[in-house]
Amino acid sequence: MPEAIKKLIILGSGPAGLTAAIYSARAGLKPLVVEGMMPGGQPMGTSMVENFPGFPEGIAGPEMVSRMRKQAERFGAKFIVGKVGKVNIKKKPFAIFVGKRGYRAEALIVATGADPRWLEVPGEEEMRGRGVSTCATCDGFFYKDKVVIVIGGGDSALEEAIFLTHFAKKVIVVHRRDKLRASKFLQKKALEEKKIEFYWNKKVEEVLGRKKLKGVVLRDTQTGETSELICDGIFIAIGHNPNTQIFKNQLDLDQKGYIKVSRSVETSVPGVFVAGDVADPQYKQAITAAASGCMAAMSAEEFLALEE
Ligand code: NAP
Repeated sequence: MPEAIKKLIILGSGPAGLTAAIYSARAGLKPLVVEGMMPGGQPMGTSMVENFPGFPEGIAGPEMVSRMRKQAERFGAKFIVGKVGKVNIKKKPFAIFVGKRGYRAEALIVATGADPRWLEVPGEEEMRGRGVSTCATCDGFFYKDKVVIVIGGGDSALEEAIFLTHFAKKVIVVHRRDKLRASKFLQKKALEEKKIEFYWNKKVEEVLGRKKLKGVVLRDTQTGETSELICDGIFIAIGHNPNTQIFKNQLDLDQKGYIKVSRSVETSVPGVFVAGDVADPQYKQAITAAASGCMAAMSAEEFLALEE
């Protein structure tokens, strides 16, 4: 039997999707949240969130999203784990396909977030899960007393590097420029950390190793010279790509694939709203994602009321 038409389906279960779920459930919309294959979104890979208001001592990323989920459940939100394979938002009700199951909704909030970017250099793909990772919180534990490198010069890279000092004997941050993009607070913390060393103006050309990781080939961006750096683990922290593949040709996207918005959370299709990193190339904070989740839920509520 086909599923009954829902008022609202929310795609994604990071801070954006969960906040949208809290607000819309509390407004009586009984939202269905499609959580994705890895529920919880990016905070699941974060050790400590120190800048989300209300947690003066910080809160572990997974704990933060788990609390948000409980809050949404308390107001009646329902959850299913699964990846959305296909959507049809060309006509109403909107159709969402998760595996073999189809769901329909009068309104949709897209909070599918963004996935870590890879370097896309030779050897990287073969070594994924065998020494090459994008999540220090998940894999750092395996590098006790080892030498690891972190690629990138933003907040993520420095946060990963600082976290890895709890395990590794040495952490080398490899950055393609000689200036960090990260916040001053994290820069100071990382630069003062004795276990962290910086390699400036270096790009990874190749990941070395067959069954086991050996290291990387680096190219100096100033001189063009190449060198080998031996290490036990590589953590890549060079930003994220928005998860918008399923919306190609159905929603207006910008050149980098982010969903284009008007009035903060409206997309090119009336009734489809957006929240969080999937439409945010600039701020990408848990708090801004949560805030846009709130706005998307309130706009969806208004849209549904006008449709009645
Ligand atoms: P990001 O700020 O975009 O930084 C990406 C870094 O990777 C940059 O330093 C960039 O170099 C480098 N990079 C990009 N492509 C590369 C490539 N192909 N090869 C080598 N290096 C490459 O990304 P992010 O660090 O993930 O942060 C994203 C957002 O989340 C930011 O707004 C950040 O403030 C926020 N964030 C905040 C926290 C926190 O507040 N605790 C923690 C994590 C993230 P260039 O500098 O040369 O461009």
